[in-house]
Amino acid sequence: MRLIHSSSEMQQISLSLKKEGKKIGFVPTMGYLHQGHISLVKESKKKTDITIVSIFVNPTQFAPNEDLNKYPRDMERDNGLLSSEGVDIVFFPSTADMYPPEFQTYVNVEKVTMEFEGAIRPTHFRGVSTVVAKLFNIVLPDYAFFGQKDAQQSVVIKRMVKDLCFPVKIKICPIIREEDGLAMSSRNIYLAGEERTDALVLSKSLTLAESLIYHKGERSCKTIVDAMTELYKNVESAELQYIKIVNEISFKEVENLDAGSKYFVLIACKIGNTRLIDNSHISL
Ligand code: AMP
Repeated sequence: MRLIHSSSEMQQISLSLKKEGKKIGFVPTMGYLHQGHISLVKESKKKTDITIVSIFVNPTQFAPNEDLNKYPRDMERDNGLLSSEGVDIVFFPSTADMYPPEFQTYVNVEKVTMEFEGAIRPTHFRGVSTVVAKLFNIVLPDYAFFGQKDAQQSVVIKRMVKDLCFPVKIKICPIIREEDGLAMSSRNIYLAGEERTDALVLSKSLTLAESLIYHKGERSCKTIVDAMTELYKNVESAELQYIKIVNEISFKEVENLDAGSKYFVLIACKIGNTRLIDNSHISL
């Protein structure tokens, strides 16, 4: 496994790999890896000849009041995990390389970033789309793998790729969960004491929504969201930010569920000081 720090060196390597006719699979991450990230790596290994993973805690997607400086990092452990998965290249650029002095070009995807995560974190998606566009231009992947865990992000990336004609196929992979249902996240490490148990309210409320929709035939989003919201009232450390049911493609909120359509039930909730997101894909 090669560890590459410089973006120009990374781009040269990718150009030579492409000349050799190799299909490049790319998994962008912020490190502190867990089995959710590894599932994307495994998918890339299945589909492509060369798997490149980037580890970059991207400052432009964090607001000044967010956790950029305390975001967990463990490069040694990450490298061990990636090498045992057979990853070919880890791209680990510095902030100065990615954002040199005078950097001033940003990618701004519009409508689909206005609500939900974009409303609560107004500069977040501009940072995400900018860094992913840069990484695509450096790594030159044929396929890039993202998690459904960040459902709105996956819609934003797909939109950007379409609108700006990036020659890359985007693959969205399912959410990987801990045995008790908690969606894996690098931020779960922040959950202290009781909060780890309290955090289960997210996955439990999604299970409730799925059961109402699939087993009870409930089609009113208000009824589903109200029933889910009730569960949060018993959890002291939980500060629910939103539960929304949106159309899978337009990412617009809907009032009723229709047969033959697909949706996401989206949740953002703070458990103590830790902000968690989770979702469920609904296919009727
Ligand atoms: P991050 O390191 O948090 O930026 O995540 C890197 C990639 O891993 C993103 O595409 C995430 O959606 C994906 N990811 C994060 N958590 C999970 C999970 N529990 N299951 C599947 N993919 C995930």
